[in-house]
Amino acid sequence: MTSLRPFNLDGQVAVITGSSRGIGKAIAMTLAAAGAKVAVSSRKIEACVEVVEIITAAGGTAVAVACNVSDKAQREALLDAVENQLGPISILVCNAAVNPAYGPLAALEEKAFDKVMAVNVAANIHLINRVAPGMAAAGGGSVILLSSIAGMMGSQNIGAYAVSKAADAQLARNYAVELGPKNIRVNAVAPGLIRTEFSTLLWEGDRGKDFIARTPLGRLGEAEDIAGVVLFLASKAASYVTGQVIVADGGITIADPF
Ligand code: NAP
Repeated sequence: MTSLRPFNLDGQVAVITGSSRGIGKAIAMTLAAAGAKVAVSSRKIEACVEVVEIITAAGGTAVAVACNVSDKAQREALLDAVENQLGPISILVCNAAVNPAYGPLAALEEKAFDKVMAVNVAANIHLINRVAPGMAAAGGGSVILLSSIAGMMGSQNIGAYAVSKAADAQLARNYAVELGPKNIRVNAVAPGLIRTEFSTLLWEGDRGKDFIARTPLGRLGEAEDIAGVVLFLASKAASYVTGQVIVADGGITIADPF
């Protein structure tokens, strides 16, 4: 029989990279509220512990594990720690990302490109490869990558980041094909402009006002706007959805260009 509570995550174990603040924090809190045991992770353990305290005070289950996703040994240690403390991982959210360069691709330094691809793409490949066998052994799982509308169009100033986010969308499609036979669903979310520390340069002041004026829903996105989409993709409600990129952008990419 179809579940009557399709968004319920009781019994699930979720790892969210970069979840001490912003979109990752909202995802951790939302998945925990839906019943998942969650691992809150970022470079700064104190900030993760604060999120864990909020979740546990609300009756949820969470652990804090420090992990800089640019370091392979730390990524391994994160997943080992989560399996030891919470059990087999059934939901992986690849959320942590960096944007080390601002300006045209013509002026991009090679080391900045290497960094953005290592953190935003290669680290995700490693994390997915590491969790997939366990998910397969348990009968399935859900992986969600944070892409961006930046990966769907050209950009004057964040081109390298945009390339990495387009690659994340392709990771969703590619892993969906490779892991579908194991009942592992892999999807991506492409947020528009979300009001977090990461994107301050893009939404503060007149730039933000201009963006809002061009956005059909007439506002910037909030981290919670993205967390709900991730909950959907993680849950049984999305049991036949894989290889997709769900755009959550207030309508800016479908706005009237005329
Ligand atoms: P944010 O508010 O700056 O939060 C980033 C989180 O990642 C923090 O918890 C940070 O904590 C952690 N982090 C940063 N570098 C890390 C690293 N090397 N290893 C592990 N954790 C790291 O950013 P956000 O806006 O929520 O962005 C989250 C995701 O959404 C990213 O993938 C981003 O590309 C995507 N996105 C954002 C927007 C937007 O408008 N904000 C739009 C589209 C897509 P520590 O500093 O403690 O490590």
